[in-house]
Amino acid sequence: MFLLKYCYRNISHSFAPSTMAQPTKKNIAILGSTGSIGKQALDIVRANLDKLQVEVLSAENNADLLIQQAIEFSPNAVVIGNEEKYQFVKDALFKHDIKVYAGADALVQVVQMESIHMVLAAIVGFAGLRSTLAAIEAGKQIALANKETLVVAGALVTEAAKAKGVNIYPVDSEHSAIFQCLAGEFHNKIEKIILTASGGPFRGKDKKFLETVKKETALKHPNWSMGNKITIDSATLMNKGLEIIEAAWLFALKPEQIEVIVHPQSIIHSMVQFEDGSIKAQMGLPDMKLPIQYALFYPLRVHSSFPRFDFAAYPSLTFEKPDYTAFPSIQLAFDAMKKGGNMACILNAANEVAVHAFLRDEVGFTDIPTVVKKCMEQGTFIEKPTLADHLESDKETRVKAIEFCKKNVSA
Ligand code: NAD
Ligand code: MG
Repeated sequence: MFLLKYCYRNISHSFAPSTMAQPTKKNIAILGSTGSIGKQALDIVRANLDKLQVEVLSAENNADLLIQQAIEFSPNAVVIGNEEKYQFVKDALFKHDIKVYAGADALVQVVQMESIHMVLAAIVGFAGLRSTLAAIEAGKQIALANKETLVVAGALVTEAAKAKGVNIYPVDSEHSAIFQCLAGEFHNKIEKIILTASGGPFRGKDKKFLETVKKETALKHPNWSMGNKITIDSATLMNKGLEIIEAAWLFALKPEQIEVIVHPQSIIHSMVQFEDGSIKAQMGLPDMKLPIQYALFYPLRVHSSFPRFDFAAYPSLTFEKPDYTAFPSIQLAFDAMKKGGNMACILNAANEVAVHAFLRDEVGFTDIPTVVKKCMEQGTFIEKPTLADHLESDKETRVKAIEFCKKNVSA
């Protein structure tokens, strides 16, 4: 259990009682602060200003919100990804003692700032990989929302974390649930984990129906309010596919130790089954603030005013097997994980391209897994990829995936 070993060993980094001098506040960098996770993380900071200090905020395009957040939280620095917006942000923060940087390379530098204790990686997609890796290399603790980082380069990321003694605290609700179930179980073997999936907005629909789906309905998730990319991933069930790979890296699991069960109410966030057959589940209302807060404050549970779960309001919690025929993405993820090397990087790049094409009405809903499958079949396989190989593989796959999207793959 890679992650737990390091969490266990390095508990004094956080808020655990210790004879070592503890920082009065934890200084955090929030990468992707204008997104769904980033904004919820700032809600947590707002409620815990005595315990958390924002050191860095970053966004790709939403300069207005980034400026507003910077004025409220007074970070040491902000990074705007889109360099064309640099002057606008700089001018707006002119009177404030806040450094302003622009571009992806700047972000990689800024996350290494000495004053940062923890980096919340909440950028969406492959774009989050370099900054997360740089933060790990600089020895920062990581609260990881950006699952694509582990999907694309799980081996590199976990090796770097191990070498630097860095803990990776999961933010994804399923992985946080597993992490919470494993508390106190460090020495016990996991027989399997059971990842729960809501089933998304098209649960129970067949392939014929799915061919007619448009983005307006695909963007309406029944239980969670999230960014557009993960919402479409949740509708195709690729989100669960990505989460299988994420879990394998976080908890050092083999593919056969990971099971997916559809649980439409999203109350059980995931489960762990131990060698004696006992199953532990973590439960609560679907609210990302809880796993974000758990990652930021681990090993402490801090008081929250999030709404509480009422069993009487949910007399029936139900479970069913996923429909692997209508939703082939989970199987594609298992295939990529079993193949290893750069295959999950190929899967991720193809999926990002196809999802964005779907959001622009350029391909149909069922074309998304088809594009992924074709790219996996035709991509250049590398058994032991370096970071440079991943960057190249991502680029090559995007070119291929764009071609497939243009050809209208399902036709
Ligand atoms: P989002 O689209 O709402 O926000 C993405 C953030 O990343 C924004 O701040 C944006 O400015 C920034 N960003 C986008 N492209 C960038 C680029 N090229 N360079 C730098 N920054 C860039 O996404 P989200 O829903 O908050 O998800 C963020 C990550 O967390 C994803 O990896 C997602 O899978 C994961 N996650 C999200 C949720 C959720 O409830 N939203 C739950 C679990 C996991
Ligand atoms: Mg999740």
